[in-house]
Amino acid sequence: MRPQSIAIIGAGTAGLASARLLAGQHHDVTLFERAEELKPVGAGLLLQPSGLAALDDMGLGGDMRRYGQPIHGLYGHTRQGRVIMRTEYRHLAANLQGLGVHRASLCHVLADGLTHLPVRLCMGSEISAVGHDASGAWLQHEGADRHYFDAVLVANGSHSRLRPPAWVRYDRLYPWGAMWAIVPTDHDDQGLRQCYDGAHTMAGLLPTGLTPNGSSQRLLSVFWSLPVSSMASWQASDFDFPAWKHSAASLWPALEGALASVEHEHMLSATYRDVIMRRWGDGRLGFLGDAAHAMSPQLGQGANMALLDAQALARAVAANQDWRAVWRDFHRARAPSIRFYQSMSRWLTPVFQSHGTLAPRLRDVLFPLMDRVPWLRREMARTVAGLKSGLLR
Ligand SMILES: Cc1cc2nc3c(=O)[nH]c(=O)nc-3n(C[C@H](O)[C@H](O)[C@H](O)COP(=O)(O)OP(=O)(O)OC[C@H]3O[C@@H](n4cnc5c(N)ncnc54)[C@H](O)[C@@H]3O)c2cc1C
Repeated sequence: MRPQSIAIIGAGTAGLASARLLAGQHHDVTLFERAEELKPVGAGLLLQPSGLAALDDMGLGGDMRRYGQPIHGLYGHTRQGRVIMRTEYRHLAANLQGLGVHRASLCHVLADGLTHLPVRLCMGSEISAVGHDASGAWLQHEGADRHYFDAVLVANGSHSRLRPPAWVRYDRLYPWGAMWAIVPTDHDDQGLRQCYDGAHTMAGLLPTGLTPNGSSQRLLSVFWSLPVSSMASWQASDFDFPAWKHSAASLWPALEGALASVEHEHMLSATYRDVIMRRWGDGRLGFLGDAAHAMSPQLGQGANMALLDAQALARAVAANQDWRAVWRDFHRARAPSIRFYQSMSRWLTPVFQSHGTLAPRLRDVLFPLMDRVPWLRREMARTVAGLKSGLLR
């Protein structure tokens, strides 16, 4: 496509990755981010082999691996110690692995990838409306005039308020979220580990390696599942945090050491949305990442999907002369995988986060059985690795 002026809203995973790829094709990219600076905030993420391959494609995989912690599999057990989940990448290929990373490290690597590229970064710039008309695509700051571009790409995350209502088929806040904290660790664990008690209680530990602040201290993300309705009382100043720490350690002794240095105010909340859009792009306006297909992080796919969106979009832009054809190719490339992972997340989330009793009982019986069937074991690994685009594909 001849050089376009492209605005990208949101300097998260999807926004930074698309900025790099599109600026690399000599488009004139402006990135709008509401935060004043790219701060080292956010929970740990598990980058799957699919997302790592996209980073390799951008020439950034090596930098990312310098910070992250190799992860060989996902391991889950009940509070009684019964193994429920043992999904390992080696069931697909001997050297395949995921990478536990801090969100700050991923953003740092992606932002560093913009050096020497002609990308204008507008920080502290919150966009309140977007649209497109005969003159092109536009965006607007609250109370200000419209700015026109050849195309506007919205990548402002799961809680985006910029989605045109007519494009949205379904949008709801999940009733469960998580409290999380980043803690120092001296262990060299190479697994994402979870502990369950039914579906009402779940904790997770994800080693995330180093951050870009120069310290050699390795980090670990701690997750604690919680109904959104309980978050306010959990965060209130009269919450009995020492009693919670005690009960968490009695659920899973590994939490005692992990939480040793954690104070109440270190625990932050995360909520997730489930958003299905009828289309992700039309004319000169498009949506990427969580803004396009927010889902629960149960399968750890959000950041991977954001990277794969950026890659598919850049390929479609390189291959076509007009935006209508770009979105046609983008939908063709991304729809099967996005639809599959959204359905799986919607189906699996109550199995791990709900007050239901039947679903977790079935989980505790069926998941270990599935692990004994080689074909199912590989399919589970393929699903976690981000490589599926349908139940049997
Ligand atoms: C607890 C938790 C655990 C997770 N674990 C995993 C995991 O293990 N693996 C995985 O792949 N994914 C995981 N995810 C999901 C992952 O974090 C997201 O899917 C991913 O960050 C999406 O990237 P994005 O670029 O679409 O959005 P984001 O990274 O959310 O970036 C959006 C950006 O837009 C900016 N913004 C918002 N509104 C505006 C506006 N109006 N104007 C300008 N800027 C704006 C925001 O400040 C932000 O910088 C997890 C999520 C949570 C909550």
